[in-house]
Amino acid sequence: MTIASSNMSLHSFLRRVERSRSSVLLLDYDGTIAPFRPDRFRAFPYPGVTELLCEIMETGRTRVAFVTGRRAHDLPPLLDLTPVPEIWGTHGRERLNSDGSYQRQAVDKETLEALYQADLWVDSIQLHHLAEHKSGSLAVHWRGLSDKEAYEIRHKVLLGWLPIADRACLTIEHFDGGVELRPADCSKADALRAILAEVPLEAPVAYLGDDEPDERVFDALRDRGLRVLVRPHWRATAADVWLRPPAQLLEFLSDWLDATRTTSLEQSCGPSPVTARKEDMVRASEMNEPAASDAR
Ligand SMILES: [Mg+2]
Repeated sequence: MTIASSNMSLHSFLRRVERSRSSVLLLDYDGTIAPFRPDRFRAFPYPGVTELLCEIMETGRTRVAFVTGRRAHDLPPLLDLTPVPEIWGTHGRERLNSDGSYQRQAVDKETLEALYQADLWVDSIQLHHLAEHKSGSLAVHWRGLSDKEAYEIRHKVLLGWLPIADRACLTIEHFDGGVELRPADCSKADALRAILAEVPLEAPVAYLGDDEPDERVFDALRDRGLRVLVRPHWRATAADVWLRPPAQLLEFLSDWLDATRTTSLEQSCGPSPVTARKEDMVRASEMNEPAASDAR
């Protein structure tokens, strides 16, 4: 079974997973394995995803880890996976391991003061109910609101945040359904680099993401792993493969599971660079019927 039949890079990557003793499957959460919901605490994975991830983990041949902008502890109740997979939260600032151990990078005083000022601004424009407070960052969400409302909220928030970010050298990052203020020295790409430092060079690595912040991970994974864009609609991306959720996502995970169940292991598998074939990906996707999606 193939997902995009004309994209040989995906096929060859899964062959590497099949032949390797260990592999790494990295996943963003919101918009990637879970459809967006106005209430982010009810954004559960697409049906079938949790079961496939559980089976992949049980093979003992794939390290499954989430890299998310959410707080790390937000995910276990939503995932309902046992054991809890490794979770890198708040863009890599937090690390929650399967054994329950937890690490968090410290936030310096200047950043804390800037975030406090940014929070006061959100209060002053009466948008506190849309704010999400995390370790070392502050986000404002507008998911579920009209385009006009989202535009007005974004404008008001940035009016106060831009000078604060400028003074404190913080970054303002837009994501699908909101905006976030946080230090520039910590990103999902940093989490990826930390994970890669812990795995054998020959281990196949894939990262699945949907949003603009995931593009940094795609850039960091260039020439090292498979970069998979998961979203209902195409957009410009550095990714190698585009999957429409949930059908093609489930198919990908199912193929991964099949690859890790194989008994024809080889001693080693040399690196096989994944080459981007975006034209083929687009063409292949256009040939397929859009997957039924409850993404929004
Ligand atoms: Mg996402």
